Amino acid sequence: MSVRPVLKIVKGVPASDGDGVRLTRMLGTPQAQMFDPFLMLDCFDNDKASDYMGGFPDHPHRGFETVTYMLEGRMRHKDNTGREGVIGPGGIQWMRAGKGIVHSEMPEQAEGRMRGFQLWVNLPARLKMSAPGYQEFEADSIPVEARDGGVSVKVISGATDAGTAGPIGGGAVDALYFDVVLPAGTVFEEPVGDDRNAMLAVYEGQVRVAHDTVDALSGVFLGTGDTVRVEAVTDARVLLLAGRPIGEPVFWHGPFVMTSREEIVQAFEDFQRGRF
Ligand code: MN
Repeated sequence: MSVRPVLKIVKGVPASDGDGVRLTRMLGTPQAQMFDPFLMLDCFDNDKASDYMGGFPDHPHRGFETVTYMLEGRMRHKDNTGREGVIGPGGIQWMRAGKGIVHSEMPEQAEGRMRGFQLWVNLPARLKMSAPGYQEFEADSIPVEARDGGVSVKVISGATDAGTAGPIGGGAVDALYFDVVLPAGTVFEEPVGDDRNAMLAVYEGQVRVAHDTVDALSGVFLGTGDTVRVEAVTDARVLLLAGRPIGEPVFWHGPFVMTSREEIVQAFEDFQRGRF
């Protein structure tokens, strides 16, 4: 058995998106460019309403999937097909933008903490122009696997080695999306085969991965091996994200992610002419 080594540790970068929502970008920055099939990972955690109230008013997407996972607070989602809903604490929305949607993501609260993540997952060329679709689950339908020492693994997508399966199918890239809680001194170990790229997003506490100590709000990009291993120095929380690399060209411009410049130009034209 080989433990996956650390390729790179990158501290998240403070950023602002939508209408002034403050967040930490952990992937999708010059320091941490895409990690195939993952394009971007934002962590938002704001107590002050003024840091999130602007939300993310109407904007388009084409060519990939957005995954919203709420830890605290509520976010209302509304798109141009008339679909609307609220993602509550512990809930997940896995949205395929496919050939295009225009949507808004707005806080469903005027006070209190709003905390969660948005991950962008690329789609292979053959699915970029597929129909938009949603997989949405509330906290009570997402299983949590209890392990020794008080370690818990919330399985959002894919399945653990022990067989706990999340409500979201792995999709085109067979994604694993686990939210792992580790009390100080415990270890989380999970076989993740070489057919997937794997990364960790440390969002609370301090952990050790291989020979490195990692502080919260850092991305840990792992090399090849059989197993992901994390040791908690303090109480810690970590996302494990893994997926099959797509290995195709990526042309990414703002809210559109395609495989050629021509397709990006087409996306802007289709959006401007109201074809989404
Ligand atoms: Mn969006």
